[in-house]
Order: sequence, then C-alpha cells, then structure tokens
Amino acid sequence: MKLAIADGHVVTIHYRLTLDDGSIADQSFGGDPLVYLHGAQNIVPGLERQLLGKNVGDKLDAIVPANEGYGDYDPAAEQAVPKSQFPPEVAVGMAFQTRGRNNQPMTVWVRTIKGDKVTITANHPMAGQNLNFHVEVLEVRRATADEKKHGHAHGPGGHHHH
Ligand code: ZN
Repeated sequence: MKLAIADGHVVTIHYRLTLDDGSIADQSFGGDPLVYLHGAQNIVPGLERQLLGKNVGDKLDAIVPANEGYGDYDPAAEQAVPKSQFPPEVAVGMAFQTRGRNNQPMTVWVRTIKGDKVTITANHPMAGQNLNFHVEVLEVRRATADEKKHGHAHGPGGHHHH
C-alpha cells in the first residue's frame, strides 16, 4: 500500500526553487535529493502544507507566499554593528549565530557593509519573496522513533550522528 505524505513520515523530494524574477534560488535536481521529516518544520510551512497527502511519483508546482515561506520583510529587524566585531572575511549575505532578546539562539545575515558599519538583519535573505517550488516526490516512509524524537530524518540524505 502506498504511503501518502503525512506528519511523522520521512519524505525524499527533488525540488527547484524559483523566485518571481525567474532566478533559480536553490535546487536539488542534478544533486542529492532532500530528505526531511514531515510535520517537524524542517521545510518552510507553505511547502509542507502543500505536500501533505501527496504520493511517490507526484509532481507539483507549489506557490508559497512570503508569509508562509521565510516571512515578510521586517525593516525593524535591522541593526548596525561596528565592523570590528566581525571576522575579517565578513561579506554581504553571510550568516552568523547570535542570541536574541530572550537569549534564544538566532541567525542573522549581513545586509550591507558601509565603511566600518555592518548592517545585520534577522530577516532571512529570501524574506519578502514568493517562493515558486517545483517538487517531485521520490520516497515516503515512516519515521523511526529516534527520528521523531530528534525532529529530523536520519540515514542517507538526513542527519548523521557520531
Ligand atoms: Zn538525529
């Protein structure tokens, strides 16, 4: 019996992500497919929602609006920081780990570098963009107890633990 995509299933997909300007932002075609645990927020919410109930062999074009993708762009989530606080190789688009208001770990990205000021933003580089996915479903299987506990897929294409 075919297993449809649902929470608690490990799903293998090939995908291509195209932005509204026609540029390809990311894709797995031509490389290793993506393996993720459905229902564990491993992928953007809008894509996860549109993959629910799909089967092996299904091909779909999923248009994910920004607010179900990497979020709307929030201009308040920007901050200027002295360049001296960064490693010398700092460049636009680079990601850094920092601590948020409640000390929770968060990722920030370098938006601009002007003189000795680096502007960082908590907005993902693809925030404010519609995401146009083309997806092919390659494999669906039940997650193991460990995968469910960890919230991600193990094995080929998934996480490896030592
Ligand atoms: Zn794990």
